[in-house]
Amino acid sequence: MGESIRLGRIAGIAVGVNWSVLIIATLIALGLGVGGLPQLHPGHPEALYLVTGVLTAGLFLGSILAHELAHAIVARRRGVEVEGIVLWLLGGVAKFRSEARTPRDEIAIAAAGPAMSLIAAAVFGIASGASALLVGEAMSTTVLGWLGVLNLLLTAFNLIPAAPLDGGRILRGVLWARRGDPASAAASAARGGKGFGIALIALGLLLVVGMVALDGLWLMLLGWFIVTAAGAEEFHASLRGVRVRDVMTRAPVVAPDWLTLQEVVDQYVLTQRCSTFPLRGFDGRISGLLPLAAVKRVPSEQRATQRARDVACPIDRVATGHPDEELTELLQRVRGTCGEGRALVFDAAGELVGIVSPRDVGRARELHTLRQPQRNADDPPTSGGQRADEAEPTGTP
Ligand SMILES: [Zn+2]
Repeated sequence: MGESIRLGRIAGIAVGVNWSVLIIATLIALGLGVGGLPQLHPGHPEALYLVTGVLTAGLFLGSILAHELAHAIVARRRGVEVEGIVLWLLGGVAKFRSEARTPRDEIAIAAAGPAMSLIAAAVFGIASGASALLVGEAMSTTVLGWLGVLNLLLTAFNLIPAAPLDGGRILRGVLWARRGDPASAAASAARGGKGFGIALIALGLLLVVGMVALDGLWLMLLGWFIVTAAGAEEFHASLRGVRVRDVMTRAPVVAPDWLTLQEVVDQYVLTQRCSTFPLRGFDGRISGLLPLAAVKRVPSEQRATQRARDVACPIDRVATGHPDEELTELLQRVRGTCGEGRALVFDAAGELVGIVSPRDVGRARELHTLRQPQRNADDPPTSGGQRADEAEPTGTP
């Protein structure tokens, strides 16, 4: 889920919302303002119910934000690079650019969120109790109590040991500490997540058949999200510890960017074994990346006049990396860039030393599974996906 609107920064951490958060906010606001509150507390003006519903939805999203902020702040304090937080349909996501360095860090970052939800549950519970003492069975007592219960449910749900839920991450940290191998720990936690997600989908299907359609569909959506995210975590786990230098194709063939496409085809494409060429400008610097697909898109009669640099991806829109960084970190930057999933690798002196293609990544995963210690021989092969972000659903609307 991408970020649609940037709200600003809290404690230095970028916070944004995806449009889908409006669905959950509307469901809560209308559910309380039109459905629940007028029934429980009759005799108030209609507008008051709606305002209370909207305020409660805001407080609910605020408590999810607090949960994610707790993850992000602990992560930053433990040296993990935080990209930001996005709120969306199924809750919140804290996005990280790097990994926890030790099992202890992993557990602390994962546990911070549920701990914050538990604190929120206590705060709302106490506020509801105070409201009951001061004004009795008023709307404030009801909604504060409801927020307390919801935060308690959120804590419990997120502690289920199935990645990408926080409980799955805690499990990953514990297995990592025990086995000493973060990749195998992450793969196990992700398998737990897949099983749990499939169970949720099955349960949702039963509810739909049993005519509880809305709750059923919600559970199925949640289950599908967890299965997808767990698959992505498996992919990520299968590459953990792999460096860019381990997989990159070294010393790629570089073509001058002033050649016409026809010249590139004749002199490079037909004579070399690669399908993507870094381009070099007059000044000797790398100016872009020319994938074969971009050449093919130009009609053959225009290839004699079009220059390579005019159809290539300019270098500022190509993902670039360093030989010593983690491959998964580079792959995160490849998303959304030009260049058909490829990244260029430069050394500290700024010299082009390699190129990473999706085929290199696929090969790295195969080799990685071969290198797995014997105790993981029963692990099924991992499936594809994108880099998993710290993500968690909130459960119910
Ligand atoms: Zn969390």
